[in-house]
Amino acid sequence: MAHFNIAVDGPAGAGKSTIARAIAKKLGFVYVDTGAMYRAMALYFLRRGIPPEDEEGIRAACSDVEITICYQEGSQRVILNGEDVSGLIRTEEVGNMASATSIYLPVREKLVELQQQLARTADVIMDGRDIGTCVLPDAQCKIYLTASPQVRAKRRYEELKEKGIACNLEEIEQDIIERDYRDIHREHSPLKQAEDADLVDSSDMTPDQVVEAIIDAARKRGLKA
Ligand code: C5P
Repeated sequence: MAHFNIAVDGPAGAGKSTIARAIAKKLGFVYVDTGAMYRAMALYFLRRGIPPEDEEGIRAACSDVEITICYQEGSQRVILNGEDVSGLIRTEEVGNMASATSIYLPVREKLVELQQQLARTADVIMDGRDIGTCVLPDAQCKIYLTASPQVRAKRRYEELKEKGIACNLEEIEQDIIERDYRDIHREHSPLKQAEDADLVDSSDMTPDQVVEAIIDAARKRGLKA
């Protein structure tokens, strides 16, 4: 029997991972965070000292990278060439490098294959930028989750402040706008709402309301839960 797949796409800071994790827990689905895979690749390029504009260097390095994921107590761990790098990929440096290197086809091809494999083996909720449009075009439920750049920057700012990391709200907002621009305008698998996706704007919603809205949408698309 086909597995039920929920695809969640949207810009940086829309709350995709928090929401998808909560839904996975509620429904007993596997949560697949595809951004973490692009971040692990980016960490590899950073460690090798390959600049993001060196397309040839990045293409060549792709054949030396093996990314896998596993689950420990329900949470996704990303393994880069045998090393668990889950704790090293959440920095702004890695995020910016992931955004700059995810434009290249060899990087995307490698990760999309892994993502499609995962969706074949379990009921998954997968978040990213191109899940509903490219990775899982047949997903039963597709969500485009967004919020205004101001709200997204504010959330990111609060998150960093809570972790004790010094940051500046205007810089974060600028960064988010730049990342959106790159994700939306890139040649390969740009960020866009799939034609059959439901739009959820979380600007004025609580996380619980967003979770409920997505589960409702999934039920309308045939989820029996
Ligand atoms: O979602 P997250 O911020 O962790 O993703 C890091 C970067 O990886 C994004 O800025 C985006 O450019 C890229 N990405 C992508 N396709 C995905 C997931 C992430 O291009 N499916």
